[in-house]
Order: sequence, then C-alpha cells, then structure tokens
Amino acid sequence: MGLVVQKYGGSSVADAEGIKRVAKRIVEAKKNGHQVVVVVSAMGDTTDELIDLAEQVSPMPAGREFDMLLTAGERISMALLAMAIKNLGHEAQSFTGSQAGVITDSVHNKARIIDVTPGRIRQSLDAGNIAIVAGFQGVSQDKKDITTLGRGGSDTTAVALAAALDAEVCEIYTDVDGVFTADPRVVKKAKKIDWISFEDMLELASSGSKVLLHRCVEYARRYNIPIHVRSSFSGLKGTWVSSEPIQQGDKKVEQAIISGVAHDTSEAKITVVGVPDKPGEAAAIFRTISDAEINIDMIVQNVSAASTGLTDISFTLPKAEGRKAIDALEKNKHGIGFDSLRYDDQIGKISLVGAGMKTNPGVTADFFTALSDAGVNIELISTSEIRISVVTRADDVNEAVRAVHTAFGLDSDSDEAVVYGGTGR
Ligand code: ADP
Ligand code: ASP
Ligand code: MG
Repeated sequence: MGLVVQKYGGSSVADAEGIKRVAKRIVEAKKNGHQVVVVVSAMGDTTDELIDLAEQVSPMPAGREFDMLLTAGERISMALLAMAIKNLGHEAQSFTGSQAGVITDSVHNKARIIDVTPGRIRQSLDAGNIAIVAGFQGVSQDKKDITTLGRGGSDTTAVALAAALDAEVCEIYTDVDGVFTADPRVVKKAKKIDWISFEDMLELASSGSKVLLHRCVEYARRYNIPIHVRSSFSGLKGTWVSSEPIQQGDKKVEQAIISGVAHDTSEAKITVVGVPDKPGEAAAIFRTISDAEINIDMIVQNVSAASTGLTDISFTLPKAEGRKAIDALEKNKHGIGFDSLRYDDQIGKISLVGAGMKTNPGVTADFFTALSDAGVNIELISTSEIRISVVTRADDVNEAVRAVHTAFGLDSDSDEAVVYGGTGR
C-alpha cells in the first residue's frame, strides 16, 4: 500500500460534526494500510468571513498582512482535525504550509509554488503519524513571508504535495460526487463524468468550474499525478482526472466529444473608449495592465469609426482586480491616449469544452443556435482548440448554461447531481 494525499474542502469540514466525519474517513484509509497525508481547507466560509473583516478595517489591506490573516483559517481546521483523529485512537500531527515545505514566490494573495521540501512530513509519516497540512499557503523563498496561493488554492497544495511525496493518487474530497457536465447547483440534470483528460479538465477549470482549481490541474498534468475527485459525504466513486482513460470492466472509458459546460460570473469587463487606431495602442494598454500584475481573459477591439479614427477596446478580468486596473489605466491616461473608461461587472461567461470540437465542425453552430433559441445576447466570443466561450449579461448565465447542456444531449436520466453541503459562495 502506498501513500495517498487526501484534500478536504471547506464544505467538508464546515463544523465540528464535519471534522469528526472526515476524521473517520481518514482513519479508514490509514487502517487500509496507506500512509496518509491530508490537506485541509478553512472551515465553511471562514476565508470569506476573514476577507469581509479585513475590508471593514481597511479598504486596501496590505498583501503581507492579508495573507497572514487568511492563513489563520486553515490553521484552525488542521489543528481540530488532528485532535479529532487522536480522539479516534490514531496519531496525527498538523503542519502549516511553511512547516510542510511549501515554498512560493512572493506575490501575495496569488503566490506560485516554486518548490516543495516535505522533509518534516516524511519524518512524521515514518513515525507512523497521519500528517495534516494546512492548504492554500506557503512561505516565500526570498523574504520568508507567509503567502497564500489564491482562492481555492488548497487543491494546488494537495497536488504539489502528492508530486513531491510521489503519492499513488491525490484524492480531492468535496461536496458533490465528482466532476459533472455542468455545475450541479445550476443544472439539476448534470451528469457525473467517470474520467476526464487533464486537457479538458484544465479548460473547464479555467472557465469557472471551481470543483478543481486550474493551477492544481496544471500541476497534476506536469507531474502526471492522477486526481480522484469525490464526495466526503457519500461512498460513491468519483471522477478520475488523468492522462490515460481509466479501465471500466474490460474496456477503456471513451473520451467524450463534449466534456461539459462551465460558467463564471466572477469577471468584469473594462472598455477603453476612444483609443487612436494606430500601432502601439493595444501594447500600451496591456503593458499598463500587466505591470499592475493583473491577468486578463478575453479581448475585443471594435472597428474604428472612419470619421474619427478612434476605436474601443474591451477586455475581461477578475472583478477582484477591477479597481486596480481602472486606477492603473487612469494614471497612464495621457501616455496611452484614450477618452474614457467603462466598467461593467454585470457580465457572465459560458464555455463549452470538449476535445471532440477539433473534429466536429457543427459544434460551434449548435452552440450559437442553443444560445439564440434561449434568447441570450452575446457580447464577446473567444475560442481555443477545445473550447468556445461567450460573454453575456450575468442574468442570462444560468438559463444559457441549461440550454446549452440540453442542446448537446448532456442531460442525465437519473438525479445524480446531488449537492451535499456548502453554500456555493
Ligand atoms: P471545496 O470547498 O470542497 O473546495 P468548492 O466549492 O471549491 O468546494 O467546489 C465544489 C463546488 O464546485 C460544487 O459545490 C459545485 O457547485 C461547483 N462546481 C462548478 N462546476 C462544477 C462541475 N462541473 N462539477 C462539479 N462541481 C462543480
Ligand atoms: N480557504 C481558501 C479559500 O476559501 C482555500 C481553499 O479553500 O482552497 O479560497
Ligand atoms: Mg475548492
């Protein structure tokens, strides 16, 4: 029996009962002969509550202190979980990200893991303990400050530890039975996926399917760590995310033409109005944005009006970065040369993902037909080889996701899309 890494999300450890339930599960894995490393998130919506608290004290809290505050959430759950395991008669030790050897760069609030040196975790396992690690956090290599990995970052901690410890599998326990063809909170007829490739999962995750964080999938693909996404509330098999299809009976699961529909309402749109239509303008705008360390998503440049020679450029970015982007552009207004800025946070994005798109030319037409039949107006479009995304009004998103899901024959005949916990926040 090898080493397994299990990650439990906030909804799985939302209260004392949840912690005790999870502790029993962990002890089962240990009794089955595995060495067990557990990565745990903050209880329930603790991280959101800490963010609200920080904003009441200061509208723009400093990154270092903000990270110090947020990591407290995971510290609470790791210690309680270790206590609950000991109460069941098994030895457990908890570790902060820093103690577990999670080394990051120094970009506060969205640090990247650059190395994992899990010496203390190994020692603890070799001494017969279950090792509990606080997710979502590390320590910066140069300044030795505490950092966080961005929202949902415990998933990345789990895969990074699995890679560093050469684990058999990384199990991600959450409040649904696996990865579905759409968010079960929105599509009641969503279908559980038995196996999905890293590539399709990466597109779903980066398009808003928060069941797995995209950085975690990226990491798993790079180190070829199979992920098993499952519920901590049921005993059902979940979804395997790996490079090769899993075996079911005597045959391999087939790659679906369409893996699923993702949606995202966490982005906003900025339109830079009245930009001179000449070389270097887009470069100046996006240099300003990148100097502010903001990642953008979609871009569209309108045709310029012949009479004025001016054009508009729109792009989308995380709402959380909206203020920073507007401030940076305003500061550079004369250098770039534009009339005004428009900010719109009432947008939503719907994405259809599937490797089969490459070889099925009808997919794009069917996607747009489904949206038009549902009366949904499209504002921006972007595509990759295996994804089509559109931006619409935020109010239209749920309806659009359901329409596309049905149009592509993804609706399930059974009621398998159960949501066991969580607030969906
Ligand atoms: P955790 O607290 O365990 O990290 P998250 O809230 O981050 O849980 O992720 C689980 C949630 O992801 C589910 O409750 C579900 O609403 C959402 N979700 C979005 N898209 C999907 C999908 N395609 N399949 C499953 N869950 C999804
Ligand atoms: N607690 C952090 C968050 O809510 C990290 C995580 O849950 O993965 O984003
Ligand atoms: Mg999560």
